[in-house]
Amino acid sequence: MSSRSATPSQFTTIVAAKDWTPTSWQSKPIKQDVDYPDQAHLQRVLEKIGRLPPMVVPGEIHRLRRQLADVAMGKAFLLQGGDCAELFDYCSQSPIESKLKVLLQMSLVLVWGARMPVVRIARMAGQYAKPRSKPTEMHEGKEILSYRGDNVNGYAPDDRTPDPERLLGAYFHSAATLNYVRSILGEGFADLHHPSNWNLHHVKSSTLRQEYQSIVDRLTDALDFMKTIGADPNAGGSHDGSPLSTLNTVDIFASHEGLLLEYEQALTRLLTDPNDPSQRKYYNVGTHFIWIGDRTRQLDGAHVEYFRGIENPIGVKCGPSMKPEELVDLLNILDADKRPGKITLITRYGVDQVEKYLPGHIQAVQDSGHIVVWACDPMHGNTKQSVSGVKTRHLIDITKELSQAIRIHKRLGSHLGGVHFELTGDRVTECVGGSMELMDAELLDRYETHCDPRLNYEQALDMAFLIAKYQEK
Ligand code: PEP
Ligand code: MN
Repeated sequence: MSSRSATPSQFTTIVAAKDWTPTSWQSKPIKQDVDYPDQAHLQRVLEKIGRLPPMVVPGEIHRLRRQLADVAMGKAFLLQGGDCAELFDYCSQSPIESKLKVLLQMSLVLVWGARMPVVRIARMAGQYAKPRSKPTEMHEGKEILSYRGDNVNGYAPDDRTPDPERLLGAYFHSAATLNYVRSILGEGFADLHHPSNWNLHHVKSSTLRQEYQSIVDRLTDALDFMKTIGADPNAGGSHDGSPLSTLNTVDIFASHEGLLLEYEQALTRLLTDPNDPSQRKYYNVGTHFIWIGDRTRQLDGAHVEYFRGIENPIGVKCGPSMKPEELVDLLNILDADKRPGKITLITRYGVDQVEKYLPGHIQAVQDSGHIVVWACDPMHGNTKQSVSGVKTRHLIDITKELSQAIRIHKRLGSHLGGVHFELTGDRVTECVGGSMELMDAELLDRYETHCDPRLNYEQALDMAFLIAKYQEK
């Protein structure tokens, strides 16, 4: 899909998708658009964001692409997770540390279970915009605009008017979050979470606790052995081929849903490809990985148009409404050069629908020749109303969709390359079940999400243990 054209410099070539520019999405129909009352204000903010420095650089984006190519080829496993809706308030020491801690602990268990490197992508440092099923909602008998995420409007019912300053807020909160992540990872944060210190007291069933403890013990032994032979996994260096070496702390990538295209455009920059300094390409420098949501993936729509032009690895959410032939058309647009791992298909059907839709999607992709990363999001198809009246998800449904996805991939000669969870490192009570046996009646104790229900710390670890167990088999 590359077309070459002359550039101002005689030494570099712009490599871009055919007929694509960072603004070409503007001529296409758009879903989930935000209606800003003051357009001039919006333009001023976007110009300002357009001058601010990149938050990530092309070298990191290419490194993630290489790692995702490994996942697509079955040589690594992907763990992607974080909040449904990140809040500006989460840009603070403790929430950042607890999210990193749970992601690192999960990845340690997964490395051990899968016996392969784990690629870690956080839904973090920019996961602010939310698509909504309805533009308005009722509050105390009055119709008000829906909450669209911290980068659009406020959660408080009297703060729902979209405010462009919030886009600038998104940039600075993302930058501050990433800055702290980079700092603590660089200083060996992972060392503090050695499995021998893990507390498994929350696990109610003693058989399950023994099972977890045995995984932790074997993991601890493996890490101690690595240290003894001088191959300290936290000592530095990236993928050297050994799974435990990927516990190297530098590689946690950031991601968010690419929903507000004005913001994404302002962070799209023409930069030199570090692998080939004679070429300049378009990178989204606001995050490493962005995905298209299930509501904005229309073939002729603005989001697909924007996404087809950037070098970053991208995700596509696939739900029951995706037709197999539509999926192939989408891949042909987004991955015209058929580059392994360029696209991560994040499937989210729901436990009752996975068997109906996943096989057809796998077969269509296999026949198309695209080599994708298959990731299972067992959260979004399994949202239910709780008895207490809040949105919840049951660990039993999450577990079943995940195990079925693993089985279906195996049956069809494919492989599940990764998982995508909504989770937090905090002890919230938003999902039912898990080894702590959280009950419906306890949901209101610490129900804190502004959007979808997340796995808490213990439930997130449950998922990692579960996947490790499957992979051991
Ligand atoms: C999400 O990931 O929070 C989300 C809105 O998902 P989906 O697009 O799959 O509904
Ligand atoms: Mn969500």
